[in-house]
Amino acid sequence: MQNKLFIDGQWVAPSDGTMLPVIDPATEEVFHHIAAAGLVEAELAVRAAREAFDYGPWPRLTGKERAKYLRAMAEGIRDRLPDLARMETRDNGKPLPESEWDLSDAAGCFDFYADLAEELDGEVEEVKLADARFVSKAVREPLGVTVAIVPWNYPLLMASWKIAPALAAGCTMILKPAETTSLTALELGVIAEAAGLPRGVLNILSGKGSVVGQALVEHPQVDKVAFTGSGPVGSRIMATGAKDIKRISLELGGKSPFVVFADSDIEKAVEWIMFGTFWNQGQVCSATSRVLVEAPLYPRLLERLVEEAKKIRVGNGLDAGTLLGPLVNKGQYEDVLRHIDRAVEQGATIACGGRHDGFDRGFWVAPTILTDMALDSDAWVEEIFGPVVCIRPFETEEEAIRLANDSRFGLAAAVMSADDERCERVAAAFRAGIVWINCSQPTFTEAPWGGYKQSGIGRELGRWGLDNYLETKQITRLVSEEPWGWYLK
Ligand code: NAD
Repeated sequence: MQNKLFIDGQWVAPSDGTMLPVIDPATEEVFHHIAAAGLVEAELAVRAAREAFDYGPWPRLTGKERAKYLRAMAEGIRDRLPDLARMETRDNGKPLPESEWDLSDAAGCFDFYADLAEELDGEVEEVKLADARFVSKAVREPLGVTVAIVPWNYPLLMASWKIAPALAAGCTMILKPAETTSLTALELGVIAEAAGLPRGVLNILSGKGSVVGQALVEHPQVDKVAFTGSGPVGSRIMATGAKDIKRISLELGGKSPFVVFADSDIEKAVEWIMFGTFWNQGQVCSATSRVLVEAPLYPRLLERLVEEAKKIRVGNGLDAGTLLGPLVNKGQYEDVLRHIDRAVEQGATIACGGRHDGFDRGFWVAPTILTDMALDSDAWVEEIFGPVVCIRPFETEEEAIRLANDSRFGLAAAVMSADDERCERVAAAFRAGIVWINCSQPTFTEAPWGGYKQSGIGRELGRWGLDNYLETKQITRLVSEEPWGWYLK
């Protein structure tokens, strides 16, 4: 496990010696320390990334050449998958099969953008002009020095969603992982070294968001910041970046609805509601944590949901059979418990779950189902980011759509019904960037990911993810031999 920072192809200790403890959320054991970068390291990393972009080979390589490095990084992740997955689980708490899935997706993301890098070669769009004296073409070029700031819920995967397209485009990057979960992100530096990535192309600074994150966002030599995390920090990054017109893309939170009609198969509805809210301990920005069920199905569905939620095996993510691990850290654990207490104070009923007292140490919350909450209660309105689902009945399709869209967020939404036309109708009516029909959460590298309203700006993944790291240039040529005749008559 790394305890240094990866800058300009070298592993360096933080100049002021600051280290941060790494805590296993299942046991509260401090099992490692990571380096906390400061202002000095932010400056060094930006300089390295700038140099690599302005004068290094990276942006000048063909897409085909860059693709080789990306594929080598995908292989590097796959080669170490068992070891990286255990590291991710100890760092974040998630069940080991979830870590394995995340890491396999991360490797797939590098392969996917390797293909897209190759497609960039020779990409030229002829632009039709109304004026026959000129011909014009549009080309796309790498945007420059980019910063990725990522959260703790999918540590290596969120980093990969940004690094792979940035590198494919020909940008250089500085990655700032979340302070609670930096271990696998730092290992990516080792993997990049082994892949022979030119120095300065990828720099990795673990450390505090308020220190090194802020310094990177403020730095005038940074061209773009790609951020995933909380709304308030996203808003602050946008405001800070506005000073020198940085490109900013934001993936923020949500309070996504799941509308279940009475003609749905009840067992499938139970499965997907649980996957939509308890997967990754509910620490998922797209979690469908507001469930709306058509009234005739509501009582039986709630009963089955409670039965199944109580059966979810809660435990250390490293233990076989665990389906719900601890929350990522003490702060998040206390936050989620505060949300549950407040929900009860505001009139909600706990149908099951709440505080989990089965362990001496660790940050445990049982799968929690809340009912009877008011539409203006915090539990219904605010993102909880834990294994907590709010469920309520509705009477008509129109009411379901109105309730589903009644949120300042618009990241995701899901609908389930045996009637395909109704599903399409409701999907079209949702004001959200990601819509699932008859399921919730499956995520594909090929498809666009991002939010409407306060859930973010821009799209990641697919070809849209590559657009985030490209500028478009027009090149226009005068082809007419006729004099222009403005000044020289
Ligand atoms: P956060 O927004 O505080 O942190 C996300 C990242 O931003 C981290 O790497 C952090 O170090 C960095 N950061 C923090 N302050 C910064 C600053 N001033 N300048 C630059 N970077 C900064 O989120 P968190 O503390 O990890 O979680 C808090 C809440 O955020 C959660 O409860 C949840 O609601 C939400 N969240 C959302 C997502 C998502 O995927 N949308 C993921 C994790 C958390």
